[in-house]
Amino acid sequence: MLSTASISRTAVRSAFRQSTLPKVLAPTSIAQWRRTYASQAEEKDLVIIGGGVAGYVAAIKAGQEGMKVACIEKRGALGGTCLNVGCIPSKSLLNNSHIYHQILHDTKPRGIEVGDVKLNLAQLMKAKDTSVTGLTKGIEFLFKKNGVEYIKGTGTFADEHTVNVELNDGGETSVVGKNIIIATGSEATPFPGLEIDEKRVITSTGALSLQKVPESMVVIGGGIIGLEMGSVWSRLGAKVTVVEFLDQIGGPGMDTEISKMSQKILKKQGINFKLGTKVVSGDTSGDKIKLQLDAAKGGKEETIDADVVLVAIGRRPYTAGLGLDKIGVDVDERGRVVIDSEYRTNKPHIRCIGDVTFGPMLAHKAEEEAVAAIEYLKKGYGHVNYAAIPSVMYTHPEVAWVGQSEQDLKKDNIKYRVGTFPFSANSRAKTNLDTEGMVKMLADPETDRLLGVHIVGPNAGEMIAEATLALEYGASSEDIARTCHAHPTLAEAFKEAAMATYAKAIHY
Ligand SMILES: Cc1cc2nc3c(=O)[nH]c(=O)nc-3n(C[C@H](O)[C@H](O)[C@H](O)COP(=O)(O)OP(=O)(O)OC[C@H]3O[C@@H](n4cnc5c(N)ncnc54)[C@H](O)[C@@H]3O)c2cc1C
Repeated sequence: MLSTASISRTAVRSAFRQSTLPKVLAPTSIAQWRRTYASQAEEKDLVIIGGGVAGYVAAIKAGQEGMKVACIEKRGALGGTCLNVGCIPSKSLLNNSHIYHQILHDTKPRGIEVGDVKLNLAQLMKAKDTSVTGLTKGIEFLFKKNGVEYIKGTGTFADEHTVNVELNDGGETSVVGKNIIIATGSEATPFPGLEIDEKRVITSTGALSLQKVPESMVVIGGGIIGLEMGSVWSRLGAKVTVVEFLDQIGGPGMDTEISKMSQKILKKQGINFKLGTKVVSGDTSGDKIKLQLDAAKGGKEETIDADVVLVAIGRRPYTAGLGLDKIGVDVDERGRVVIDSEYRTNKPHIRCIGDVTFGPMLAHKAEEEAVAAIEYLKKGYGHVNYAAIPSVMYTHPEVAWVGQSEQDLKKDNIKYRVGTFPFSANSRAKTNLDTEGMVKMLADPETDRLLGVHIVGPNAGEMIAEATLALEYGASSEDIARTCHAHPTLAEAFKEAAMATYAKAIHY
């Protein structure tokens, strides 16, 4: 049974969701849509289209809840973008290119002398592939363990309850679901006039498997994916220039002060930036690709050459070939499947989660929605707090944040108090000779309730979990400051930033 406290938390969260999701549809009785299929295959409780993070997590959770579930995936491997061409392979390249870069440039002060250091790019890629294969196979194992049927093929709606599948191994089948979840993810947004060949003009997918280090690379788009992949190739020896339309890197969600600090650090590492600049056109006919640039605010035009151009201007929902128009499922003007606060489309037995619908395109957001969607389906309640979803940029140092940024608060006229603590005053960072960055905390000046946390620094991506938990439980900066943190750890910088928010830091 739910306690009174948990009921009120659920009610508050539900109210929050209602107010943040763009469109709320009137729930319709599921029974209204139910049909019987005398001559077809066994009816499943749930059919999921897409075996990415959203789809595979929903499938496992549904299996755990005792549902008869099938998951259709066309890629030939489970885990979607995240495991195959996203989070996992990019973090493998980031980690190993960081080690390479550190061995080249950062061993002497540590008392380590190394001889000839060579890059073996083929082995670097192999290490990445080994991690990917291990993880995708692990999901197949979890499917078996939880009784999920894995159908390898491309799904298309035949009607509101039937999905036809063109099997990867040839032939066709169809599967009928009382309920269906659309979890077909996203794809890279193309750049008009520049044809992607994944060799010279690449998306992040091409950037994860280049065969040699290009002499020069231009990254169009200074968001997280562009900066992560730009970092990898810069560390491996490419001359990287990032062209960004906005006046800051990291996207509009990153706190501007943190963004500036991160840009300064990345610049010191050798990445060039052209902010407030837009790429107007590209010419791929010569040995070098020529990009025409224009200052976004009407400044001077210039041309820039590159061996490889990485298009990283964002991602868009992917619903190609799904047949949504045939069954009348609504999508909005940006191609996102329209859902209500319980992930139902306008066909209530068809739900939708992950990148293909509203919200940030993040694997952990997709995972939260997957669990919640199954809980709504099975039990009638679920929970995702969209105000406490962390973001991480895995450059070195990492950048991580959760909650509102200073520019958000200013824009919304919300009063706040700021506390900061630099890693240069943290004992562990000093011991590790890794002191760039800071923790920045924002709290309500009257109640001291945490409003946002922004970190640029070593291990920021792990530290943000503590901030997220604090935000989720409505902690104040004093709550954090009065919580004992082990010494010597980087997390002490987090505690000291909290002290600086409601009183004063001790070590700075
Ligand atoms: C380079 C890169 C790095 C990233 N790094 C991070 C990170 O560090 N952290 C993070 O949180 N997020 C990261 N992301 C984003 C993350 O990968 C996505 O948010 C996440 O994969 C979304 O999961 P999803 O299940 O909604 O979609 P997807 O992972 O895209 O999965 C959808 C799946 O559906 C399948 N599919 C589509 N249509 C059909 C059909 N008709 N029939 C059958 N199958 C179909 C596709 O083949 C795909 O496998 C990164 C993305 C990229 C590109």
